Amino acid sequence: MNEEFIVYVWRYKLFSDFNFITTNSLEIDIFSFGDRNYDSGPDFFNAKIRIGRQLWAGNVEIHINSSDWYKHKHQNDNAYNNVILHVVYNHDMEVEVKGNILPVLELKNYISEELIENYFALSSPDKSFLFCSKTYNFKADFEYNNWIDGLFVQRLERKVASVNNQLEFSTYHWEQVLFRSISRSFGLKLNGEAFAHLSASFNFITLQKQCSDRINLEALFFGQAGFLEIEYDDDYHIKLREEYSFIKQKFSLNSINNSQFKFFRTRPSNFPTIRISQLAGLYYKQPKLFSKIIELRNVGDIKDLFKIRASKYWNTHYTFRKETKSIERKLTDKFIELIILNSIIPVRFAYFKSINNQSKLEETIEFAESLKREKNSVISEFMKFGWKLTSAKESQALLELKNYYCDNKQCLRCLIGKRVLERNSNESIS
Ligand code: SF4
Repeated sequence: MNEEFIVYVWRYKLFSDFNFITTNSLEIDIFSFGDRNYDSGPDFFNAKIRIGRQLWAGNVEIHINSSDWYKHKHQNDNAYNNVILHVVYNHDMEVEVKGNILPVLELKNYISEELIENYFALSSPDKSFLFCSKTYNFKADFEYNNWIDGLFVQRLERKVASVNNQLEFSTYHWEQVLFRSISRSFGLKLNGEAFAHLSASFNFITLQKQCSDRINLEALFFGQAGFLEIEYDDDYHIKLREEYSFIKQKFSLNSINNSQFKFFRTRPSNFPTIRISQLAGLYYKQPKLFSKIIELRNVGDIKDLFKIRASKYWNTHYTFRKETKSIERKLTDKFIELIILNSIIPVRFAYFKSINNQSKLEETIEFAESLKREKNSVISEFMKFGWKLTSAKESQALLELKNYYCDNKQCLRCLIGKRVLERNSNESIS
């Protein structure tokens, strides 16, 4: 049993009986249970309670045992002088406030065995994917959908905070921030860091000056990524080296360590060489990408911006020199959706938030509803328990749920946990 549970029971009024009586046999009528206080001081403010014949307005303090009042040293803190009712699970001693005995409601007899069992089921050290999975069938109703929206926005706000951080470092250069975010996304999980280093190794103005010529842009990217250090007898590589040598000198550039780029355990279509050429293709096609993405109003138009290919050389190569059979290296729909989810939506959301444009913020959230749900091991686990996901908005929400609620045992702050405790469990997801 912990205090958070008793606070929860009081807040959501999960009592088996509402005929409350104090430990010294006075009747209690509760007109308001009070507002939850998350700061220091009593647990609930502004409660309105009749005890016996007297109507009181004030605060409520909650403990497991009455003696916790003294353990927590509330007798030395004036913030507790206006407590009108001490709500405890177990009454083990009287408490005096300013010379008067504090009225006590002992909840032991007002909480059902079933509620306690459900609480212990949730808080047991179960190592399964979801602690609640054995005790609850999920239902996708209005409340659930609102909760999912909240989780999605919570996750998005985390990404927005990171965008805002980068903005400060870039002196509010939105184009540069978007470029760096997209670069990281192009590297996926395995090469994301390396792509982030690459994009931070030169100024965005340097990139803009190369945008009118695709070979120059590729020379800048491959050169800065350290792919042009070794000399190959290959026309494309020779051309890139020549251009890079000029750009490098002109803008006083230093390449990053090429060993950061990994080719093992990744599909050839995700090889950093192919992705670098495609990234160059994107900025060659759309040098002012940020200006464009805030203008466009739907995911379809944004996807069109990403209809790009690696340069022809890469149709027959995965790495420099080694030839393969010819395949056109264009971005797949799945890859484009990932970029939209991880880069376009957070940067667009951060921008419209900064100018307080509510309708554009909603439009940006709708983008996530138009994207297919992600496929990964966490999402597959949720689906095994009956969750039916249609969009990336829902899959992002469940990733937030897993990372910040389930893994930290925050079941009392979760809608599913609330439903487990309330035993609304004869339901299935629809
Ligand atoms: S946080 Fe919610 S979904 Fe996760 S284990 Fe707890 S009750 Fe279940």
